[in-house]
Amino acid sequence: MTLLIGCIADDFTGGTDVAAAFRRSGLRTALVFGPPDASLELPADCHVAVVALKSRSTPAEEAVADSLAAQRWLLDKGAAQIYFKYCSTFDSTARGNIGPVTDALMDTVPAAITLHCPASPPNGRTVYQGHLFVHDQLLSDSPLRHHPLNPMTDSCLPRLLSAQTRHPVALIDLPTVRHGVDAVRGAMVKHQRAGVRHVIADALTDDDLAVLGAAVHEFPVIAGAAGLAEGLGRAHPAAGAAVTEPQRAGRAAVLAGSCSARTLEQIAHFYAAGLPSLHLDVLAAASGRDVTGEALAWYDAQDPDLPVLVYASASPEELAAVQAQLGVTEAAAKVEELLGTIASHLVERGVRRLLVAGGETSGAVTTALGVRAVVVGAEADPGVPWTYASTKDDGLALMLKSGNFGAPDLFTRALHTDAEEAK
Ligand code: ADP
Repeated sequence: MTLLIGCIADDFTGGTDVAAAFRRSGLRTALVFGPPDASLELPADCHVAVVALKSRSTPAEEAVADSLAAQRWLLDKGAAQIYFKYCSTFDSTARGNIGPVTDALMDTVPAAITLHCPASPPNGRTVYQGHLFVHDQLLSDSPLRHHPLNPMTDSCLPRLLSAQTRHPVALIDLPTVRHGVDAVRGAMVKHQRAGVRHVIADALTDDDLAVLGAAVHEFPVIAGAAGLAEGLGRAHPAAGAAVTEPQRAGRAAVLAGSCSARTLEQIAHFYAAGLPSLHLDVLAAASGRDVTGEALAWYDAQDPDLPVLVYASASPEELAAVQAQLGVTEAAAKVEELLGTIASHLVERGVRRLLVAGGETSGAVTTALGVRAVVVGAEADPGVPWTYASTKDDGLALMLKSGNFGAPDLFTRALHTDAEEAK
């Protein structure tokens, strides 16, 4: 099977999100964590490979270098097309990194023109007259104007992108998109003849994104969020082929390091369902107590038929107290080390279904387990797919979720209900 699409995502959670979108379109999709080195093999028979980087807010030169290295690996694996996935809020610094990275990817292929669309209608992100909306507000009026790293104070995408590239930027408006695939193709040809290199497209719905995907499905470089990726995936002839789901069986555990409101709700739901839960004492661990050993002894005493939850997640007050004592970075490092070590021991003890809550926490756990690539399976909730580690012969099912993702009953439903059904 040939690799149809090589995707580069500018952050880890975005990688999972876009991989889930390609999978939803019916393409067999692999997700690679971090810049791949040349020795990393692609899981077999994939239509799409997504490389998840951390290049959204790094200096532009670094983001370009990391993206080009990922592109080299993807092209080497035979990718016929490159998709650059960024945030549906066009989250970028004043000078980048969306413009510089897209230009660099286009220079390498080379590609004369590309299409951008960050719309993600299920999340309320739409583009109209080149302006990005978050639900009923312009991006610049939305809470994103207070983003801690990249405050977004302009909603006009052609203007934002023009500040990040020396090449001309143009717009394909909604009436053109609504005229269909041929109208969009015609507009792209016209823009290319006029020397335009970046085209922003309006889109309000998934149908608009499907039109855009069909119009550009043979372009060498495309850029946008998960919505356009799904539209693009659907335009591929392979889309819709049966994607097999490996068996999910074996002992189950949740490791939570996210302190987000949604993760705290999911923990409360799991506990209220009467399932075994253990809170890790981070301060005790920092003072030298063998918290890992205690957690493993607790795990060994549990009913093997029940999923278990081990969490460091804390309420805002508890978190503030730990951070005041240890320092923010040290506290996070201690938690990540604890959860990574516990993850390795749990897998050694036979855990084969592992749900990890928290973006940074997921990075720490996959690193500790030595998992560098997974195949993406079905979603338990939007943007939260099961994935399957390719490095374990006996198969490890992993669900890696960003803190705020998933319904309040996700932990219980994904691990307990599944197990009940399997009986
Ligand atoms: P999210 O996806 O919600 O942002 P992350 O895992 O990315 O979740 O971030 C949560 C951070 O909080 C991690 O770095 C984790 O180590 C840290 N953390 C979790 N629990 C505690 C705690 N009890 N004390 C201090 N830091 C914690």
